[in-house]
Amino acid sequence: MDQNSELYKDLDRILLTREEIAAKVKELGQRITRDYEGKNPVLVCILKGASVFFADLIREIDLPLTLDFMAISSYGSATKTSGVVRILKDLDNDILGKDVIVVEDIVDSGITLSYLSKTLMQRGAKSLRIATLLDKPARRKVTDLKVDYMCFDIPDAFVVGYGLDYDQVYRNLPDIGVLSPRIYGNQ
Ligand code: 5GP
Repeated sequence: MDQNSELYKDLDRILLTREEIAAKVKELGQRITRDYEGKNPVLVCILKGASVFFADLIREIDLPLTLDFMAISSYGSATKTSGVVRILKDLDNDILGKDVIVVEDIVDSGITLSYLSKTLMQRGAKSLRIATLLDKPARRKVTDLKVDYMCFDIPDAFVVGYGLDYDQVYRNLPDIGVLSPRIYGNQ
């Protein structure tokens, strides 16, 4: 999809281009390949936002990894976090004794991932690391959350594209952009 498409008209600006994203994702894949040498990690995709990042990242990791998927409620259709975390779809497989890497689209307040990390460690994972595409450190509310792998620090703006949505739309934009406040202005 090119940047003249209708969906791009709802953006104030493009924050990260597809080329910038691809370069960082490749770098991260290579780093994870080195860090997990000799291991068979389980990569957990947090649906739906991380799905595009996940699909690209796993293909940059040169290891005999396995995949699993989890869905968690966070935002609904609003643009501010509710603080309520609910598992909508759980993992298919046991993670007891496994090296788990949770793949998330964005860490904002950190509430979602903090809850999730604790839950997965309680299930007996051997190790657990977090890989996120985006991080908004200015908005962090949880202090005990360690983000192990991160591609981009971004400012406090609501972004969409490359898997990230607003009201389920814009996930298929190949680039990441700041959504124009006129789209969600009356919330
Ligand atoms: P947290 O629990 O860290 O506050 O929220 C993380 C979740 O909030 C992300 O997985 C994502 O679904 C959503 N989120 C936070 N910031 C943004 C944003 O700028 N754009 C979009 N589309 N979702 C966001």
